[in-house]
Amino acid sequence: MTSKQRVVVIGGGLAGLRLAARLNGAAAVTVLGEESHVPYNRVLLAEVLAGRYAPEVAALPAVGPVLRRGVRAVRVDRADRTVHCDDGEALPYDCLVLATGSNAVLPPLRGLFEPEGRDLPEGVHAFRTMDDCLALSAAVGPGVRAVVIGGGLLGVSAARALAARGAQVVLAQQGERLMERQLDADAAALLHAHLTALGVEIHTECRVRGVTTSPPAPLPGALPPATAPRRNRRVTGVELADGYRMAADIVVLACGVRPRTGLAQAAGLEIRTGIVVDDHLRTSDPRIHAIGDCAEHAGQVYGLAGPALEQADALAATLTGRPTAYTGTRALTRLTLPGADGSLDLAAFGETTPRPGDDVVRLADATRRTYRKVVVRGDRLVGGVLLGELSTVGALARTWEGGETPHDLFHLLTDDGGH
Ligand SMILES: Cc1cc2nc3c(=O)[nH]c(=O)nc-3n(C[C@H](O)[C@H](O)[C@H](O)COP(=O)(O)OP(=O)(O)OC[C@H]3O[C@@H](n4cnc5c(N)ncnc54)[C@H](O)[C@@H]3O)c2cc1C
Repeated sequence: MTSKQRVVVIGGGLAGLRLAARLNGAAAVTVLGEESHVPYNRVLLAEVLAGRYAPEVAALPAVGPVLRRGVRAVRVDRADRTVHCDDGEALPYDCLVLATGSNAVLPPLRGLFEPEGRDLPEGVHAFRTMDDCLALSAAVGPGVRAVVIGGGLLGVSAARALAARGAQVVLAQQGERLMERQLDADAAALLHAHLTALGVEIHTECRVRGVTTSPPAPLPGALPPATAPRRNRRVTGVELADGYRMAADIVVLACGVRPRTGLAQAAGLEIRTGIVVDDHLRTSDPRIHAIGDCAEHAGQVYGLAGPALEQADALAATLTGRPTAYTGTRALTRLTLPGADGSLDLAAFGETTPRPGDDVVRLADATRRTYRKVVVRGDRLVGGVLLGELSTVGALARTWEGGETPHDLFHLLTDDGGH
């Protein structure tokens, strides 16, 4: 009798749990997940913060006892093929999968950390984990002054959610427009108008250079310093590059994410931006794979849910005897921003800013607040952005993903092809 292959997965997020579900009984799987919460889908955190969903709604499908919740992997011993955990356990593996996701980028702001300190001031939060979301949720309410730093997908989602909870929200975006990576200037202007109508005050080309804090509250009674519990500073506002100071009760750091590569680096695996993997999602050690936000495939670190799931599916197929090459994902970004007078849906894919010589077809309706644009290079659809009216997104995405030649672009933009 041959015993089952021992697969250890580090990371109980979207990618790690999808892989465990797909392997379902075909291997002896253990998933190590450092977070103590029931595993959840981060994509839904903004809805939890907005109060539209209870945290349970964001739960990922359960994988049963293969998941060790609240256990962190602290070291990978490649020679012994063992993972060491923070609870002292050592788990041997035949195949190791790194699905460690990413960390929020903490920008170099003056006053963010004390010299030698590692704690963010009270009231300052990243927006990456359920803990971040619950802490923000507990702190927000009508009239609370919130500053969101960063105007990408995360910052826009957080600002909208905080506004829905009645906060006075200021969004500070260093770049020229919102969601610069996905949207062109016209689409960003519509998004800007939608958020403004929700009460979000947006400042573009606005660099925050520091946070201001109040000293820790004095302790009741006079305890000797060695026995006194540590008190943290509390944020009072932010300071802009021109010296202007803005008061804030909450500051949200939405300045992007960075692949979590520490374990892999310490184990001597090849790292560039993420953990480098080949078309079989193998790292520089063929017994170790990486999937999801922590992986870098063909120079790309996606940081999106769709590629994380596709990578998990491809790896599960390979590990169950159906070698499947992963050749990359054509990732589409979608976002729905509910508002008082209707939601704003947006979708963007590929290159939304044309190069010289590209053809562009654009349909804009200012009254209905819809905007559709596609960019064509030669005979190929290379990108597009849709706002307000997404019925054609399926047909467009299929044409783009399949690298097909669009025969009637106008038709493709105005008709969903019956799908
Ligand atoms: C607020 C928010 C909104 C988003 N919205 C969208 C969206 O609209 N569309 C989209 O496509 N994507 C979105 N994303 C990105 C998407 O959530 C990620 O791409 C996806 O979660 C990646 O899955 P993953 O499994 O690679 O990483 P994660 O989901 O981050 O899971 C990794 C897990 O590994 C754990 N871990 C790390 N190191 C260890 C260790 N040493 N030991 C044990 N456990 C460890 C972490 O704690 C974490 O739970 C959003 C992300 C956020 C935060």
